[in-house]
Parts: sequence; structure tokens; C-alpha cells
Amino acid sequence: MIAFGPVPSRRLGRSLGINNIPPKVCTYSCVYCQLGRTIKLQVDRRMFYEPDDILMSVQSKVESVQKSGETIDYLTFVPDGEPTLDVNLVPEIALLRRLGIPLAVITNGSLIWREDVREELEQADWVSLKVDAVREGIWRRVDRPHGKLQLASIQDGMLEFAKAYTGHLVTETMLVAGVNDGEKHMGEVADFLARLQPERAYLSIPTRPPAEEWARAPREETINRAYQVLSESIDRVEYLIGYEGNAFAFTGSVEEDLLSITAVHPMREDAVSAFLARARADWSVIHRLIVQKQLIEMEYEEQKFYMRKLC
Ligand code: SF4
Repeated sequence: MIAFGPVPSRRLGRSLGINNIPPKVCTYSCVYCQLGRTIKLQVDRRMFYEPDDILMSVQSKVESVQKSGETIDYLTFVPDGEPTLDVNLVPEIALLRRLGIPLAVITNGSLIWREDVREELEQADWVSLKVDAVREGIWRRVDRPHGKLQLASIQDGMLEFAKAYTGHLVTETMLVAGVNDGEKHMGEVADFLARLQPERAYLSIPTRPPAEEWARAPREETINRAYQVLSESIDRVEYLIGYEGNAFAFTGSVEEDLLSITAVHPMREDAVSAFLARARADWSVIHRLIVQKQLIEMEYEEQKFYMRKLC
């Protein structure tokens, strides 16, 4: 299932996701990753799907969404791994342009030191870069990058990209308690963001079950302090810590929609209930998928979540 959703996005409105990387191939293995630990940690770019297959999958999803009266604000590359590992990003973007919907890429930015990746990202209308840490030791602890990556070249690549990019550039900084949330480090992140000048700098916290059980959100005072420190250096800092809402779309097949959404976006119990009500289905679908080991139920911060089993 390459295309999924649309899912409600805190930043992009109603975003139809494009899963151009199979689970879970990434350049990082972030401690807070909602997809669990990285199965294949790699930095070499390669082809994963034929661009035409991506177009076909997205096009048919767009058609069924539009038929059911739902809207789409963005087509977003937000896969089960790092989207820029896909060597076919440019042909895919070119094909998807035919659908007339703005395109977004949510990337960890780890390959942006490469000129080809910068040029490819410039084709998107909206790009989000991950800036969790600006100190080598903290970066290695929170994002657990592939050994060949270097933070200094990634930062240079981000600055280079920001200079040339004419679309909407945002950053996301995920705060993990006791790892990257210290005031001094936040001051250094703020200095870097002040040079990068994103349109918006989002501060987020783990709101879904993380890869490592110990990766927790900092206390409210710490989050607020981080916000204040960033705001001293840059305008337009925003929290990204609220729940997205329950506007998950139903496009025709309950099981397919649930599995494709939860592969990248674990759903909270109340969101599943709202989705089932809209699809005129009941919880037997969920129980069946759990028995079939396609879906797993888990708890986080006293909330139940449902997520697709990845392997
Ligand atoms: S959060 Fe993103 S960058 Fe980090 S391991 Fe997960 S998929 Fe990769």
C-alpha cells in the first residue's frame, strides 16, 4: 500500500501519505520513532518502487477519496523510513504533479549534504527537516544515525538548501526527556535555527509509542522552557504536541484503510472508534486484524493505540 489516508496532519491539513520506502529502511534509528527500531540502517540511495506504480497507487487513492467527497490538501512523502533514500524522487514528483495537488516531503535531512538530494527536495512545495540536536553526542544518542553520517555536513547542507529553496521550509525538533531537552543545548539549536530561518520551527514530543520505551516526553515546564529559548532567537516557533484529531478518512475499504494508515500513523482508540462509525463498521474488524497478527494493540501514557504489525 503505497498511498494511504488522507490523515489529519497538524501541519498540512488533510494529507494523503505516500509510502515510497518499505518498512523500515532509514538512515536513522531515532529512539522515539513510532515505527519501532530501524530494520535496515542504510545511507545508499536506491530504487524501491517504479515511479509509475507510485503514480498509479496515488492516483487511484485520490480518485476514491474524491469520490467519497473528502478533500486533500497535500500529497506527502512520509514513508516507513527516510524518503530521500529513494533515488526516484524527482521522476515521482514530476509524475505526481499531474494530479494538481501540492507536494510535501517530511525528511530527516540526513542526506541533504548531497547536492542531488538538495536539488530534488527543491522540487517539493513544502519540506520539513529534522533538527533534533546540534551537538554530535546528543545527535548520536537521540537519532542514532548510520555510522557514515556526519552532523557538520548535514548542517551545512541544510543551510545551503535553505538559501536556495523557494517553497515552504519548516523544521521539527523532537524533545526527548533527559536527552536533548537541556536549556544549553536548546540555546544551540536556537542559534542554528536562527541561521536556517525556517518559515516555522515546530517543537514536538513523542505522542505515540516510541521505539525505546524510555524515550519519554519532557515535563511541561521543560517543554515550555525550550519554547521560550527558541523564541528568543527566532519568530514563529510552534508547539506540535496536540493530538491530530479524529478526521481519518474512509475511502471504501475499512481493512485496507486501517492497515495503510496505521503502518505510518498509529491510531488512538477514540480515533479508531470515530473512523469505524464513519465507515459503518464495528470493532470486530479490529479484533479480526489483531487475531490475524496484522494489527497490534498497545498502551502509551494510559491511552490505547493501534498500529500495523511491521514484520
Ligand atoms: S523518526 Fe523518521 S528518521 Fe527517525 S528512525 Fe523513524 S523514520 Fe527514521
